[in-house]
This record gives sequence, structure tokens and C-alpha cells, in this order.
Amino acid sequence: MKRSAFLSSLATIPLMSTYMKLTYLEKLSSSLYNTDIMPILFLGHGSPMNAIEDNEFVRGFKNLTSQIPKPQAILCISAHWETKGTYITAMDFPRTIHDFGGFPKELYNVRYNAPGNADLATFISKEVRTTTIGLDHSWGLDHGAWSVIKHIYPKADIPVLELSLDYTKDPFYHYSLAKQLAFLRTKGVLIIGSGNIVHNLSKVAWNKLDEPNFAYDWALEARTIINTAIIDGNHKKLCEYQTLGSAISLAIPSPEHFLPLLYILALQQKSEPLMLFNDKALGGSLTMTSLKIG
Ligand code: ZN
Repeated sequence: MKRSAFLSSLATIPLMSTYMKLTYLEKLSSSLYNTDIMPILFLGHGSPMNAIEDNEFVRGFKNLTSQIPKPQAILCISAHWETKGTYITAMDFPRTIHDFGGFPKELYNVRYNAPGNADLATFISKEVRTTTIGLDHSWGLDHGAWSVIKHIYPKADIPVLELSLDYTKDPFYHYSLAKQLAFLRTKGVLIIGSGNIVHNLSKVAWNKLDEPNFAYDWALEARTIINTAIIDGNHKKLCEYQTLGSAISLAIPSPEHFLPLLYILALQQKSEPLMLFNDKALGGSLTMTSLKIG
């Protein structure tokens, strides 16, 4: 149907308010059909080198492909895009951002040429009512997104959007913003949070990176506290992580790698199954713990 014919057909529905017509148009323009509820993921991304290495964590990511219905689009909340205000990538062809230094040339040669979806970005920005989501045309895909998504969808044939983390906001803001994204789960959108739960780069034991599962006591304690709260569904406790003592303070010295977890937990429905994987420590002060919900 041509746009003009379509608009006139809308005019024949007298009971539909102007607002409803606009919403209807936006929904159509996003060109997504309804689906069963999609799973949600939190992925501990670890080193950028995971993008080009083959190890147990990468195999954990690759295993997801067959466990998830093929999405119509992916929305990634990455630890590596912090902004003042909340933004969503709205370009049709996001660039691959190599936002790190000192790695082999091979890693800088990686391009993940998944398309974006400008219509979907606009749709999401309009559906979220409690905060303004700005449309971004300059970011792209940082390694928090592409280094893990490339293992799940190596063909790069699914549009990927990123939502930024507003660094001026507290954990409850992020948790409640995430709840408003719930409608995307039945639009075939796979929502991925990408970070690391225990993530203290200043305390990494660089000489023990090859020692499997090496962790400091405080890192193991923090992992137990966080994992228990995840399994118990105690999201309030996780939003108040800054009050949970010294092990957590050491494990989460800054919020950006932890906050993507809150986005995913906020989207968990009651009694929805949850699976932990890659739940191992690395270099003393990192964990690769990842979650699949649904
Ligand atoms: Zn990172």
C-alpha cells in the first residue's frame, strides 16, 4: 500500500485519536513483527582479545547462537559507552570502534559490519516516556558490543543498536529505565548487557592471567554476594551495591561495568528461568560471569 493510500485508510478510523495514529505509524515504521518473548543476556566481555581468541569464554558465547531464536534486532547496553544523558545509536551503518590501546594489529583489523536501524532507534526513543533518549549519529559499536556479539552472530546480518549509560544517574535510574524497554522482548529484539561483574583493572595479577580461575578472596566473596542476589531475585540489594561492604567496593570500583547487569535483571519476568555461565574468575580481580534469562 502506498503511503498516501495508507494514510487515508487511517483517516477512515474515526475513533482512532491523532496520538494513536502516530503511535501506530511509529510501530509500523519500526517494521518489527511480534514474537514470543525473547531471552535476555548479560555477557561478561573481559579482554578485547576475546574478539579474536578461542577460549572457554568465547565458546560460552558461541553456544548461545543455537539457544536463542534469531532476533530481528539487537539492543546492547555496553559498559564502554558512557554519556551525560541517555542516547541510542540511530545510524544505518554503525562503525566498528576500537576503543582500546596496546593490542595486536589483528584486533584493530576486525570490523563488525552489522547494520543499524534508525527507525527502531526513533521508535524506542518515543516509547520510553520517563526520560529523554537522544538519537546519536556519531558513536557506533564499541568493543563491549562487537567483541561478544560477533561470536553469537558472526554473519553480522542482524541490526545492532547501542543504548548509552548516563554516568550522572544512580543505579535505580538505570533499573527503571530498563523496565521500559520490556516491550522490545516481544518485538524480536535481543537485549544484551555487556560488562563484567567483578572488574578491578588496577588490581589485575597480570602474571597470573594464565592460571585458571585465579581470584583474590575479596573477588570470590563479591562474586558469591552478587550471584546469590541474582539467583534470589534481590534486585533492590543489587541496586544498592555501594552499601554492601569492602569486597563489593573492591570488585566494583566504578559503576560502568556493573550497570549493564541491572538493565538485564530489570527485564526479568517473575519466575523466568535464569542460567549462569562463564562463571569463572580471571587474573584475580575479574569475573566473566554471564547470564541468560528466559
Ligand atoms: Zn570492558
